[in-house]
Amino acid sequence: METLTKKKVNLLINNREVSTDNYFEVYDPGKLDNLVGEVALGSRNDVDQAVNAAHNAFQSWKNVSMQKRIRLVLEAAEVLENAISELKHLLVREHGGVLWEAETDFFLGNGVLHYYASIAENFMKAEQTEDENSWTSIEKVPKGVVAAIVPWNMPIILTMMKLAPALVTGNTIVIKPSPTAPIALSILLKKMASVLPDGVINVIHGNAEAGSALTGHPLVKKVAFTGGTATGRAVAVSAADRFKAVTLELGGNDPAIILDDVNIESIIPKLLKGIYTRSGQICFAVKRIYVPEHMVNSFYDTLCEFVDEYKVGHGLDERASFGPLNNKKQFEFVRDLINQTKQSNAVIRELGQKLDPDNWKNGYYMLPHVVKNVDQSSPIVSCEQFGPIIPVVPYQSVDEVVKMANDSDYGLGSSVWSGDFERALGIARQIDSGSTFINTHSFDSLSLGMPFGGVKNSGLGRELGSDSTLSAYINFHSIRALKH
Ligand code: NAD
Repeated sequence: METLTKKKVNLLINNREVSTDNYFEVYDPGKLDNLVGEVALGSRNDVDQAVNAAHNAFQSWKNVSMQKRIRLVLEAAEVLENAISELKHLLVREHGGVLWEAETDFFLGNGVLHYYASIAENFMKAEQTEDENSWTSIEKVPKGVVAAIVPWNMPIILTMMKLAPALVTGNTIVIKPSPTAPIALSILLKKMASVLPDGVINVIHGNAEAGSALTGHPLVKKVAFTGGTATGRAVAVSAADRFKAVTLELGGNDPAIILDDVNIESIIPKLLKGIYTRSGQICFAVKRIYVPEHMVNSFYDTLCEFVDEYKVGHGLDERASFGPLNNKKQFEFVRDLINQTKQSNAVIRELGQKLDPDNWKNGYYMLPHVVKNVDQSSPIVSCEQFGPIIPVVPYQSVDEVVKMANDSDYGLGSSVWSGDFERALGIARQIDSGSTFINTHSFDSLSLGMPFGGVKNSGLGRELGSDSTLSAYINFHSIRALKH
């Protein structure tokens, strides 16, 4: 198990640790007086060095045989697997989640590496055809240096969702973790990089300045970004200059549509997994629940009974259902939203139990909240809360609820809950979002082979899935010869 000693994390360029003039501090969001570590702040020059290292490594990595590349990526996956017990507590201490959430982040990351290693060879095969007039080969070639920028909520899987497809297709990568959860990820990446040729994996640190230096670098050929919608827009603009390929996984405001034939008691435990996991800080968390008007009060009361069982505390306290929010900005945003909601006609209940009341003010802790008497126009319904609060909104008819679900700038995930699969499917097909789940809406709902991503302000392109994602990391190169 990782000890509580303070960590020092440097940049990783060409498989060498690089120190810098300035280091920023990372504190435990559940014990704000506890310094987790110090991280090297990368300058524009450091970004340039990292991209150049990746560019140089690309010249040989792209020619490594497919079998060898896959073997090396699987070796890196083994490194990840072996590092889980050492790093999971550290991840909890910097990002605020509970232990099983940190473990899930690593397990899913490992699954993603294995998944892309298993499908890459088939995908990369050239398609050759010949007739009496011509010979044609449609080949797939890697793009070059990939810039991967990730947020703090699930840093391991969100990085592996970019690293795995990038590396198996022959690209090299420069990763910029989030400044509020960079340490466990960086230690992991350094270990993984050590089994690969120098420069295949590089890591820089910083915030907007380092991020924009990376996305705007002329040698970067593909940008894979996960984060907020406003940042995603800046990333797309920066990448547009040289028409870089861009994948954007952005925010969400996922609706869960409850139909009138459900058994409320039996669906609520499943629904809750999608609401309060990671304190609600998941891009495809359930963020608004639509319930037939005549069922709203009984649904709300039952939901409150379940939520009242929650215990909130430090992520390493094994009694905790969920931990603190990750950072001050997010904490203040959700707190202000709660205060704003309290000043409206809404009914808002604060539920659950504080595990360590004496430490409560020493972290970004927040009890779960459940809201009713709100409508589509209420900010608590229309915005991405990204916190432990959920509004329950009434609807009158199926046509109306489909309109309400689609009435959002976002379109990431969504779900329909019903005892009748065909009825749920009919509604699912009318929802304008990247994914719609039936009778599920949580990590359980994901499948590595299923493309994940958003429409509207939730993003561009897909991660996970097979061809839809791998195609984003290659260029098609068509070669044709005429015989006469
Ligand atoms: P954020 O947009 O603030 O930061 C994300 C990353 O971008 C960080 O590493 C940050 O340092 C970097 N960055 C900031 N400015 C930049 C710039 N100008 N150029 C390049 N990089 C820059 O997001 P966050 O607060 O870390 O994460 C929360 C958001 O992420 C939420 O909106 C959430 O919905 C979204 N998210 C989406 C998905 C998805 O798959 N769709 C998954 C997880 C989180």
